[in-house]
Amino acid sequence: MNTFSAPKGTYDLLPPESAAFLAVREALAAPLKRSGYGYVETPGFEDVKLFSRGVGESTDIVTKEMYTLTTKGGDELALRPEGTASVLRAALEANLHRGPLPVKLWYSGSYYRYERPQAGRYRHFSQVGAEALGAEDPALDAELIILAVDAYRSLGLRDFRLLLNSLGDKECRPVYRAALQEYLRGLDLDEETRARIEINPLRVLDDKREQVQRQLAGAPRISDHLCDACREYHDQVRELLTAADITFEDDVKLVRGLDYYTRTTFEFVHGRLGSQSAVGGGGRYDGLSQMLGGPELPSVGWALGVDRTVLALKAEGIELPSAGRTDVFAVPLGEQARRALFGVVTELRRQGVSADFAFGGKGLKNAMKSANRSGARFAVIAGERDLADGEVQLKDLESGEQTSVALETVAATLRERLL
Ligand code: AMP
Repeated sequence: MNTFSAPKGTYDLLPPESAAFLAVREALAAPLKRSGYGYVETPGFEDVKLFSRGVGESTDIVTKEMYTLTTKGGDELALRPEGTASVLRAALEANLHRGPLPVKLWYSGSYYRYERPQAGRYRHFSQVGAEALGAEDPALDAELIILAVDAYRSLGLRDFRLLLNSLGDKECRPVYRAALQEYLRGLDLDEETRARIEINPLRVLDDKREQVQRQLAGAPRISDHLCDACREYHDQVRELLTAADITFEDDVKLVRGLDYYTRTTFEFVHGRLGSQSAVGGGGRYDGLSQMLGGPELPSVGWALGVDRTVLALKAEGIELPSAGRTDVFAVPLGEQARRALFGVVTELRRQGVSADFAFGGKGLKNAMKSANRSGARFAVIAGERDLADGEVQLKDLESGEQTSVALETVAATLRERLL
């Protein structure tokens, strides 16, 4: 067969595995829905400048990974590589920040990054995210982290760690930045990394290469440079997490790949995913609104990767929900039975019983095969003779037991036995 394939770095979600994906997406969002977060949905593409300004000109996401396009009307757009900038843009545009604060929002959708595909890293992937806009309160940072941990725990995930850091604010970060630059300039680094020292030295700490990491052992630490306000803020976040029974590891090298973070940053890493181990992450971005031309709006948020959470569950051997099966499968034999049973199926569905039908005019053998494969608990079978007697056959597909039931009452009987 010579037909099309999914583009490189993407994959299709198909039954039965797609059911697990949906269940994970719902589980990641459930704690947010219980905590005052409202649903937000923004377009899949935005003005390219929203991301270059918001995420950062010098980040990999903007320089290497964005899918950009020019429309026929001449607009420069980009497929969204992440959610925060879009959600903040939408909130500012709708003036939500002039109402009660914080504005708490959650979202779920597809994101696009032109990365080198590998296990757990795709060019089209899915995130559930949350943003709390307009409040500087360590309890808000703690709330979001707790909700993420609770979401993972609700799925049964165990083998994950929470890495925590503070990146300081506009007072202490510049001082630290200068100290770090001074140190980095003295190291033996390649051209590209040397350029990065001048643009965004904190990102050098994130370099995964062994020869770079080795030289970073003596680098100045942000934790030694935090101003009193940042230190106090960070201590409060840590205390609130500890009180909520959340364990975390301090990671002074955790800077994450986006430029907008200030103060609290965190990442969830899973122990069995190989090199693409981050299942989620986030942090505070007090300056982003102003970077986008908006008012001062201190905010915090996270995004959890749905694809990688599914992989993490598999890696831990946790049973994933399988495809939703119907409880009843109708097998008609002949035209008259087809009409009668199609009516029964419709009635069952309207009464809240899940039911399916042998479409396509199959013979008894094939139709029964479909019924068995469907995983349904009961088959309703009827031929011309049954209908002449006003009856249908009700077969329990687990026990094999078969009984005659009046056509009139079959829906009520099934409902009683199933609900
Ligand atoms: P980030 O915005 O990079 O912090 O991403 C948040 C989460 O989204 C990560 O922790 C991953 O779980 C997930 N993620 C990011 N990029 C990809 C990708 N290319 N493929 C699959 N999942 C991703």
